[in-house]
Amino acid sequence: MATTTQAIPVDENVSKYVAKARPMLINGKWVNAASGKTFPTYNPATGEILAHVVEGDREDIDRAVAAARTAFDKGPWRKLSPSERARLVWKLADLLEKHAEEFAQLECLNQGKPLTLARVADIPVSIDQLRYYAGWATKIEGNTIPLSMQGGGKFLAYTLREPIGVVGQIIPWNFPLIMATLKLGPALAVGCTVVLKPAEQTPLTALRLGELIQEAGFPEGVVNIVPGYGETAGAALAAHPHVDKIAFTGSTEVGKLIVHAAAGNLKKVSLELGGKSPNIVFQDAEIDSAIPGAANAIFFNQGQVCCAGSRLYVEDKQFDKVVDGVSQIASKLRIGPGMESTTQIGPLVSEEQLNRVCGYLESGYSEGARAAVGGKRHGAKGYFVEPTILVNTNEKMKVVREEIFGPVVTVMPFQDLDDLVGKANDTPYGLAAAVWTRDIKKAHHIAAELRAGTVWINCYGVLDSAMPFGGYKQSGWGREMGHQMLELYTEVKSVCTPIS
Ligand code: NAP
Ligand code: MG
Repeated sequence: MATTTQAIPVDENVSKYVAKARPMLINGKWVNAASGKTFPTYNPATGEILAHVVEGDREDIDRAVAAARTAFDKGPWRKLSPSERARLVWKLADLLEKHAEEFAQLECLNQGKPLTLARVADIPVSIDQLRYYAGWATKIEGNTIPLSMQGGGKFLAYTLREPIGVVGQIIPWNFPLIMATLKLGPALAVGCTVVLKPAEQTPLTALRLGELIQEAGFPEGVVNIVPGYGETAGAALAAHPHVDKIAFTGSTEVGKLIVHAAAGNLKKVSLELGGKSPNIVFQDAEIDSAIPGAANAIFFNQGQVCCAGSRLYVEDKQFDKVVDGVSQIASKLRIGPGMESTTQIGPLVSEEQLNRVCGYLESGYSEGARAAVGGKRHGAKGYFVEPTILVNTNEKMKVVREEIFGPVVTVMPFQDLDDLVGKANDTPYGLAAAVWTRDIKKAHHIAAELRAGTVWINCYGVLDSAMPFGGYKQSGWGREMGHQMLELYTEVKSVCTPIS
C-alpha cells in the first residue's frame, strides 16, 4: 500500500479559525461555558490537538433551551412567512457554498476524511440538503376533511401542520456537517427552534456554520449550538423538560439512553442508529460492477458509515472471484492524511475508534476469521487502519453480528435464495441492504423480503435529500430526508366548526 506525500496547503481562514478557542452560540451571542471549561479537539491524521472548544454542560444547555424556548414562544421567528424562512435557509446554503473550500478543509482536518471526499460529498450534500428543505418551507399544507358521523349537521374540518416547537439535535462524528445541515434544514423550514449538540470529536464545522447562520440573519435564539460531551451536555438536552422533541443520530446503545431520558416529559423522539447491512452478490450479477460496488460500500469514509455494506454475501460459485476482486481494490487504495491530494483512505476519527476497530479484528481472529487483505493498523502515527476483508467468518462471530464502524467487511458464501434471505435478515439492525443480480424479478422479490429501510439494486450507498432514509428494527425510529422528514418536526392539529 502506497503512502502519499503531496500535501495540500491549509487555507488561511482555516488556520485562523483553529488558532482561537471556539465559543458556543447561545441566543445569538458567542459565549464561553458557564464552567469556564474548554476541551481539545484533534487532527486524527497526526493525533495532535487541532483546536480548543468550549465545553458545554447542563447549565449551558439550560441557557440554550431557554433561548430557543423564548425564540419559539415569543420571538419573531414564528411570525415570519414561510417564504421568509425559505429565503433564510436558502441564504445559509449560498453562504456555505461561498465558503465551501474552508468547510471541506475544516472537516478533513477535524474528522480525518480525505479532502477530496469532503469536497465532492460532504459539502455539496450539505448545501443540497439546505436547499431541498428551503423549498419545502412554502409547501407545508393541511387537508380539509369531509365528516360523516355528525347526524346530518354540516361541519368544516381541516388540519394544520404546525412546528413541533423546541428541538434538541444530537449528532455523530462521521459526517459532521451533513448531520448538522440535515437536522437543521427541515427543523428551520417548518419553523422550529433548535439546540444542536455536535459530537465531541468533530465540533468545528457545526460551530463555523453557526457564524454563517448569524450572517444569514436568523433571529437570535433560533439556532443555538452547544459543543460538549454526550454524558453531560447531550444527556441534559435529551432529558430537558422544555424541549419538545429530540432528534438523535448515533449508536443504538446511546439511542436507547435517549429514549429513557426523553420519557420524563414524553418529548417526541426520532432516531437514526447503527447498521450491519448485507450486500448480496448473486452469481448472475454484473461482476465488474458488483466488485467495485462492494469495495466502495465498505471503504467509503473509512467504513464509518451507518449504512456501510459490512456483511458481504456472495453466491458460492462467484465467491473466490469476488473476494479476489475486492482484495485487489483494497490493496491498491492509498492510505494517508486527508490533506494529501492522492489519499483515498484517511485515518479513523479518534484513538478510541482505532482501538475499537482493532479490538474487533482481534476478536475475529480469535474466533477463526482470516484477513484476505489488510487486517491491522497502518503506521504508528495517526489512527489509520488498513482496508480489510475477513473470510472464514460465520453468523455466530462478533465481527459478523456487531457494527464495527471501520474499513472491515466480512464475506460469506450462500447457496440459494432461501438460505440467503434468512441470513441477511438475521441481525438486530435494519438500516440498508443491497442486491446485485441481472434478474429483475429476483431483485424485486428480495427487495420485498429484506427488513431494511433502504434496498439498493445493482448499486450501493446512493442517497439523496429527496429519498427517505432510516431504519427497521434497532436501526431507528422515523425517516429522515425526503418530505417524510418534515413529519418529524411538525404536529397535526384538527380544527372543526359547524357551518349550518
Ligand atoms: P454515539 O456515541 O452514539 O454518539 C452520538 C452522539 O450522541 C454524540 O454527539 C455523543 O456525544 C452523544 N451522546 C453520547 N452519549 C450520550 C448520552 N448519554 N446522552 C445524550 N447524548 C449522548 O455515536 P458515535 O460514536 O458518535 O457514532 C457512531 C455510531 O453512530 C455508530 O454506531 C453509527 O452506526 C451510528 N450512526 C448512525 C447514523 C444513521 O444515520 N443511522 C449516522 C451516523 C452514525 P459525544 O460525542 O460526547 O460522545
Ligand atoms: Mg461517543
